[in-house]
Amino acid sequence: MITCPNCHTEALAALKHHVQKIATATGGVAGAIRGVSSALAESATADATVVNGRRLHRIANAIISGFRGGATGCFAGSIIGETIKQSLTAANLCKQCGHSFD
Ligand SMILES: [Zn+2]
Repeated sequence: MITCPNCHTEALAALKHHVQKIATATGGVAGAIRGVSSALAESATADATVVNGRRLHRIANAIISGFRGGATGCFAGSIIGETIKQSLTAANLCKQCGHSFD
């Protein structure tokens, strides 16, 4: 068990792991929003006379685009997270005294 070199407590937070997860989640949400909004913008610029069937088709397209965008965003987010993780010098954060260390 790793302990804090400053106060010797075992209450530590894995700093790098959290950064990776946050970046991946943020990328996924951003990608999904971008995917849906671009699909909706596409359908909005298309012809105004839309019958119900076609409209449903476009909504389905927007949802699919959202998922696709989300997957792309997750991938981009994980790369960003990895970059941030590598730039971080400390891997652990002490919950007791706030000291960060490897
Ligand atoms: Zn400490």
